Amino acid sequence: MNKKSDIYVTRATLPSYEEYIEEIRDIWDSHWLTNMGSKHNRLSRELADYLGIDGVELVTNGHNALELTLQAYGLHGEVITTPFTFVSTVSAIVRSGLTPVFCDIKPDDYTIDPDKVEELITDQTCAILPVHVYGNICDVEAIYEIAQNHGLKVIYDAAHAFGIKRHGEGISKYGDASCFSFHATKVFNTIEGGAVCSNDNDLLERIRRMRDFGIGDDDTVTEIGTNAKLNEFAAAMGLCNLRNLEECIVARRIRYEKYLSQLDGISGITVNKPHEMTQSNYSYMPIYVDAEKYGHSRADLFDRLVSEHIHPRKYFYPLISDMPCYRSKYHHGETPVADRISGGIMTLPLYPDLDIEVVDHTCGIIRKLYEE
Ligand SMILES: *Cc1c(COP(=O)(O)O)cnc(C)c1O
Repeated sequence: MNKKSDIYVTRATLPSYEEYIEEIRDIWDSHWLTNMGSKHNRLSRELADYLGIDGVELVTNGHNALELTLQAYGLHGEVITTPFTFVSTVSAIVRSGLTPVFCDIKPDDYTIDPDKVEELITDQTCAILPVHVYGNICDVEAIYEIAQNHGLKVIYDAAHAFGIKRHGEGISKYGDASCFSFHATKVFNTIEGGAVCSNDNDLLERIRRMRDFGIGDDDTVTEIGTNAKLNEFAAAMGLCNLRNLEECIVARRIRYEKYLSQLDGISGITVNKPHEMTQSNYSYMPIYVDAEKYGHSRADLFDRLVSEHIHPRKYFYPLISDMPCYRSKYHHGETPVADRISGGIMTLPLYPDLDIEVVDHTCGIIRKLYEE
């Protein structure tokens, strides 16, 4: 291994140059570059197949998938969500004219704690927006029950959960809708892209119009829409990457398992493990550093790794509720578990073509610091 080359937590997955060129060749014949072209429609069908759900609408990115879903439902009031997420989740809520209410998370898998949702429900609450953090699937049954009892929509941020199966089935069947991201850094990418998956045909129809300026089939504008159409070059990248996806997930799993075995037994380092009965996509390699047991703080470990050219990320830190643009404007909420996890979390490099020796090297550094 060349120790001088810097290693980051992720690296975009690409097909071979030849495969992509072959895929985009016929775009030059059709001159059809966007507006729901044949690649877009084919990708949408193939994703429906892969994800095991009929209703898949492609959009420009995961963030727009969230905004379009919130807006297509015409929601007003408060949305209960987690502060332990990527900023997009909460910004989508605010940009849709809604108020985020932060709920604490579970200490074991970092997803929203259903036991703490109910006490946050007011007469203003219209929806719950949980996140399948690192691909850990939320407590979907408990969330369903709460939503049923209070007449709330459930919209999952499934940006981390592409292709994950629970009890052998795709996870987009849970909730009213699931929003996926196909950003370059995600398990499956279309360079930039995303999708809303749902069994709610009215929702999907509204999203189809809203992503195209609100134009209905007959050229009348029926909704106040936006422009969130996935272009043909992005869809072509998706078609190639989907072909190679299973191979990539296997490569991720091999690296994940290597981390797991090598970090085993280091006191104070907790490795995130997929739930039983779920088939993971191995999208992230988060570890939680308990400074007291490990003997060193997360900051110390972070600095040590960086000095060795390994660049982990403090993902998710800080909590959304502590970010300057949220801290001053929204109810902070009592989220002691999220505070603690955010203070010790760190994601390590994980991607399909990550040199296996980097995993050894990284774990070696973590163990060595522990022993110091
Ligand atoms: C990546 C991500 C998003 C946003 O998706 P984009 O495609 O980048 O717009 C939203 N939520 C979470 C949890 C994410 O990781």
